[in-house]
Amino acid sequence: MSAVADTDVVVIGGGIAGIGCAAMISTHARVTVVEAEPACGYHASARSAAIFIPTYGGPVIGALSALGEAYLDTPPAELKTDTLLSPRGELLIAMDGEEEAMSAVLAAAPGIVELSVDEALDRVPILDRHRIRRACLEPAARDIDADRLLQSWLRLARRNGARVETESAVTGLRREGAGWHIDTACGPVRATIVVNAAGAWCDEIAALASLEPLGLVPHRRSAAVLPAPGGHDVSSWPLFGSVNETWYAKPLGGKLMVSPADEDPLPPHDAFTDDMVLAEGLHRYERAVVEPVTRVEHQWAGLRTFAPDRVPVVGFDPRSEGFFWLAGQGGYGIQTAPAMSLLAASLIGGEAVPPAFDDLRARLDPARLI
Ligand SMILES: Cc1cc2nc3c(=O)[nH]c(=O)nc-3n(C[C@H](O)[C@H](O)[C@H](O)COP(=O)(O)OP(=O)(O)OC[C@H]3O[C@@H](n4cnc5c(N)ncnc54)[C@H](O)[C@@H]3O)c2cc1C
Repeated sequence: MSAVADTDVVVIGGGIAGIGCAAMISTHARVTVVEAEPACGYHASARSAAIFIPTYGGPVIGALSALGEAYLDTPPAELKTDTLLSPRGELLIAMDGEEEAMSAVLAAAPGIVELSVDEALDRVPILDRHRIRRACLEPAARDIDADRLLQSWLRLARRNGARVETESAVTGLRREGAGWHIDTACGPVRATIVVNAAGAWCDEIAALASLEPLGLVPHRRSAAVLPAPGGHDVSSWPLFGSVNETWYAKPLGGKLMVSPADEDPLPPHDAFTDDMVLAEGLHRYERAVVEPVTRVEHQWAGLRTFAPDRVPVVGFDPRSEGFFWLAGQGGYGIQTAPAMSLLAASLIGGEAVPPAFDDLRARLDPARLI
């Protein structure tokens, strides 16, 4: 890669996508990350449920997740951290009218096992045995330490010489000579390659570069934290939720996080909860359990950003030299981050892409959306 200026690669966005990619590129290129907020990981990456579910999200997501699982399980020495995964499990339940959906889940994923209602209650004793019709368990679902992953990558990138500029919103982008001129809130930067890892704002970044959008749409997803229901010790409970993904709940520091599994399309913004959406979601959760919601201790929302085909976007834009997309991670951007970062770093560095990505590259290529 021939440098035109200050740096080889500017990564726009300091979320899990941008920081993972920066860490992996920083071994062989000069990298600058520009992040609009005062800290990295402020938006979607700090608001996830931090779960790794190998069977979640369709075949491309499944393949990316599988490619990154060993990295999360036994991180490379350079990351200077022990495992980022810990046991959790995912328990799905079917109520009246949802039995067929359960059959579809069981048919699609051989690793998922059907449980009796008693077995489901052994794992989550607050479930209402009179309303649960069927249950199944995905034993391979694990917690991801998302913050430790982000911080480990951030430290690695810095050790390799990467600059990470916060409060540096990108306000302008144009081709200049053989590279890019990037205006940011803390001054201009020039680079050979721009990586668009701005999460919900990726189409806005494209517009700054005079590129038509790819049709990425942010969707709000919310969460409420409740006191441990009925005073139970929830720490060993699996994540549990409706087989149709109309709500889910997950232990979180001795309390229970409940999400309405909402998916409302919204423009990019600093997301916050909608009281009605949260209340309706908590009602759906309450219908499945015997302990009522007594209070909400705190709540948050974040944006899950999807491409029109709900497959992430990784690759150079064929319309503009040196403009690279790392976008559309949807609801799987933490569990897919190792594989997406590795693929992005290989493509950006002009290296041979590992053969494991052979069947995925075209599926992820931005050209499919242009
Ligand atoms: C409630 C919820 C639960 C989730 N649960 C899971 C889960 O269990 N497992 C999982 O794998 N995924 C989950 N996800 C999805 C996951 O959080 C996202 O896919 C992932 O965080 C996206 O990362 P990102 O780096 O692309 O985006 P972000 O983290 O949003 O980062 C983008 C960054 O770009 C910056 N930026 C934007 N515009 C500019 C600009 N002009 N200049 C400079 N910087 C800019 C933003 O400030 C932001 O920091 C969940 C998401 C939500 C909301």
